[in-house]
Amino acid sequence: MSESNDLVLYTTPIPKVARIILNRPATRNAQNTDLLYALNAAFDRAAHDDEIVVIVLAANGPHFSSGHDLSERRTEGEAIAGHDIVLPMGGFDGVGAEGRLAYEEEVFLGLSERWRNIPKPTIAEVQGKVIAGGLMLVWPCDLIVASDDAEFSDNVVAMGANAVEFFNHPYEFGVRKAKELLFTGGSLGAVEAHAIGMVNRVVPRERLTEETLELAARIALMSPFALKLAKKSVNNAQDAGGRPSAIQAAFGLHQLSHSHNNLLYGVAVDPDFLARFPAKEAR
Ligand code: ZN
Repeated sequence: MSESNDLVLYTTPIPKVARIILNRPATRNAQNTDLLYALNAAFDRAAHDDEIVVIVLAANGPHFSSGHDLSERRTEGEAIAGHDIVLPMGGFDGVGAEGRLAYEEEVFLGLSERWRNIPKPTIAEVQGKVIAGGLMLVWPCDLIVASDDAEFSDNVVAMGANAVEFFNHPYEFGVRKAKELLFTGGSLGAVEAHAIGMVNRVVPRERLTEETLELAARIALMSPFALKLAKKSVNNAQDAGGRPSAIQAAFGLHQLSHSHNNLLYGVAVDPDFLARFPAKEAR
């Protein structure tokens, strides 16, 4: 069974498993506001359906996600209009730093945190490049299955910011590797990502979907209630170590960087960021 609302597809390829698919391959699945809310709706649909035990997040095309769609030239209020806001707040039309803070708190940090806490196991099925905001879709998932060509990077320091909004970097990369990757804008390949524990399995590209669904089917044999309790227990353990406070502190600095760039350049990110990468890596 397959249905399409264009930006995100919702399928149930095997019993008890929903497979949600990012579907903007022409833009390498760049995330505009509409795509993120379509993804949120798909996650909600799977979360609300008691027949679904495991949720897979996949992506069409050669690359999982190129990150936030920097070509989305709308005000925050215009971008959010018509969408079902998940946080109890407003201020999206605010002047100064207010509108951007509200938008990023809701659309970037709010959605990623919300997806992390879906009380069902989630698996990211990842191929090709995962750049910056792409990490904010992969990391909220509980497990990551990567094809051998997968690469993970956050190049946002080059844009004059600390990192992307969902600052899970130290927990995903480890402290020292997080610093190296942020400082250089470099990427982490699938094999090394597996070696440091960020990725659960590395599989050949042509077997990515099959292997991910096999893993999902194995998990779907378990009690949904026990799975929920296990997930909450692990997430609670991580958060008891201070992760929510660290995320909020980094998010505040991230907003400072946007305000700083606006003062310097009149836009939220350094417009010359591509000049900081060798030509072959520029994108
Ligand atoms: Zn931002």
